[in-house]
Amino acid sequence: MSGRHAVPRKRRSGPKDWGWQLRHAIDTAEGLDRELSLSPEELAGARRAEEAGLPIRVTPYYLGLSDRTDPRCPIRLQCVPRAEESVEVPGDLADPLGEEAHEVAPNLVQRYPDRALLLATDRCAVYCRFCTRSRMVGDGGGVVSLERLGPAFAYLAAHPEVRDVILSGGDPLTMSTDRLVRVVARLREVPSVETIRLATRTPVTLPQRITGELVRALKPHHPLWVMTHFNHPRELSPEAERACKRLVDSGFPVMNQTVLLRGVNDEAATLEALFRGLVRWRVRPYYLLQADPVRGTGHLRTAVGRGIAIMEQLQGRLSGIALPKLIVDTPRGMGKVPIGPDYVVSRQPGVTRLRTHRGVEVDYVDPPHGS
Ligand SMILES: *Cc1c(COP(=O)(O)O)cnc(C)c1O
Ligand code: SF4
Repeated sequence: MSGRHAVPRKRRSGPKDWGWQLRHAIDTAEGLDRELSLSPEELAGARRAEEAGLPIRVTPYYLGLSDRTDPRCPIRLQCVPRAEESVEVPGDLADPLGEEAHEVAPNLVQRYPDRALLLATDRCAVYCRFCTRSRMVGDGGGVVSLERLGPAFAYLAAHPEVRDVILSGGDPLTMSTDRLVRVVARLREVPSVETIRLATRTPVTLPQRITGELVRALKPHHPLWVMTHFNHPRELSPEAERACKRLVDSGFPVMNQTVLLRGVNDEAATLEALFRGLVRWRVRPYYLLQADPVRGTGHLRTAVGRGIAIMEQLQGRLSGIALPKLIVDTPRGMGKVPIGPDYVVSRQPGVTRLRTHRGVEVDYVDPPHGS
């Protein structure tokens, strides 16, 4: 080291650079049509999205995972708008989780005593067509200033029962490293905040974001958990693998939340391949989420029974570490409910009859002292 000067390396900018990916993101109907030659349903959806609702944004990287000719491609279904986005079906809500009603300070949502959600930006690398926060993401607000977040930090300081803060948005990893670290550091000044989770889809949509510089800047603020969002095995690219491994190697537990989407991943074999792939990267399949009833997403949602049937097929076929919980986040923000196949056949005093994944029924006899 001695005698060597730190010569700043010339910054290259190209597809491997996350800034380049964001600067070259496709955000118009015309741009999508040029890349994918859109179907009439897609073109109508994209034209509408330019004017109303959730805007269009897709990184060149994520577009590169898609099939250029097949509108049923699971990547296209996630990022290319369709005409059905203008259709409202019974049960649809603009704010399905009642986040606005549960806002305890500007940009801070609390629905559980020990956890809170801090919304730090409205930007994402890719706008997912099924987004629960489509009412607000990409609406022009951009990065939320530290001043505006002041009351949220004050609330957390005054409520030591909140031990777990989920930094979300939008996608907080679309902010600059400096900016992100400043928000994390402010959270760390609140002694009662034990864990911080970074909710980000960048390992999926912009894996170039997970740089050595980023993990070095965040590491001093551990315990930091990363909550990511892979939905299809096609998203398990070498770039995504590098991003996840870099996070895990740097001590970030990485949890994955998959949203169940019709035509994208509502088959047991597809989810099995996804969950096995994630576990190979040391990423834990955490939740399989029933899609929230966001206005204009009826075409992408499944019936609750579909998820339960898939869980039934996966139970016993997949290791416990590869099997997420199936969750319905109940409308109007009443909280998350785990659901699944019912394995309890009957309950008599002292005896519970269970059905196993092999289809056998077995009795469990309680100990004589009861309760
Ligand atoms: C989903 C959610 C959480 C986190 O729930 P976990 O089950 O702990 O992952 C916390 N707060 C809000 C407002 C949420 O919507
Ligand atoms: S990355 Fe998350 S917040 Fe952003 S559009 Fe997708 S689902 Fe919504």
